[in-house]
Amino acid sequence: MRIAVVHPAPDLADQLHDLLSVELPQAEVAVWSDRYAGDADYAVGWLPPPEFFARQPRLKAFFSIWAGVERILAGPGLPSDLPVIRLEDAGMGPQMAEYCVCETLRWLRHHDDYAAQQRAHAWRQLPAEDVSRWPIGLFGFGVLGRQVASAFAGLGFRVNAYSRRPHEDPRVVCFAETGGAGGFAEFMRATRVLVLLAPLTPQTRDRFDREALALLPRSAYVINVARGELLVDEALIELLDSGHLAGAALDVFRTEPLPATHPFWDHPKIRVTPHVAAVTLLAPSARQIAEKIRRFSRDEPISGIVERARGY
Ligand code: NDP
Repeated sequence: MRIAVVHPAPDLADQLHDLLSVELPQAEVAVWSDRYAGDADYAVGWLPPPEFFARQPRLKAFFSIWAGVERILAGPGLPSDLPVIRLEDAGMGPQMAEYCVCETLRWLRHHDDYAAQQRAHAWRQLPAEDVSRWPIGLFGFGVLGRQVASAFAGLGFRVNAYSRRPHEDPRVVCFAETGGAGGFAEFMRATRVLVLLAPLTPQTRDRFDREALALLPRSAYVINVARGELLVDEALIELLDSGHLAGAALDVFRTEPLPATHPFWDHPKIRVTPHVAAVTLLAPSARQIAEKIRRFSRDEPISGIVERARGY
């Protein structure tokens, strides 16, 4: 079996090569370059260059080292029938849960206000919040969303989740496009901390525009850890400035890195992090991908195969 590792960052490609070589000792693993012979059975990596697929006629599957695959699906030359397999958790779930809980508590427990008070040598106790009065609304209840839900539920938060298909979970009130406890408007009205955690697809792009965000109750907080394109930047700023929304923690943006002149940087109610809510951990990712390659090559079922028609 031959495996091509392809990644725009050479050091990451080398690390993946080394890890996969250990996980799959029988396989011949090589980092792809334009001199690489076109005979790989499987490719592993991220953002292959335009000529990659044309020069890999034997490829049976592409394994992404990211959970969100919209850029691979939109990339040039991807054969329409080539299976694309995404990363599932591989250590990202706990990171995502930590990030979302941390940003929520930082705001609810007034940590930014206390930091400002400390700088001013001010001693003022702010009102305590009862977390059960701040229902979390997860837009996206997949591999990562379920772990975020668990973390919030464990701290006493009420958790709502919205997904395409209805789910059942004793800790969560599940809303869905069809079925479940209600539709999108009901989900938004029942939510005070909105967490975006769904993939970027034609259906989710620009979904959180002015009209959608206005459905949230007054003083709601927004966390976007999905993709920048789900949220309409101008609508978020307008609703923060009008006081309808209390604040936002943003990890993902329409353009990354976030341009230096973007108004998010200096907005007093916005916290910005550089797409780090849950980063790919190479060792567990290589382990997961190696196991899937073994199963795939034995014609055994694997999870994480992207459904091209739905975009995730
Ligand atoms: P999954 O595919 O496991 O889950 C996706 C969830 O989104 C599912 O519940 C799905 O519904 C729901 N969904 C999809 N389309 C819609 C829609 N149109 N309306 C409502 N719900 C929808 O993905 P993961 O949990 O693994 O990852 C989610 C996203 O997180 C990734 O796609 C990626 O963009 C982002 N991400 C961000 C990271 C960061 O560091 N900021 C790191 C890793 C991922 P259903 O259950 O019905 O299928």
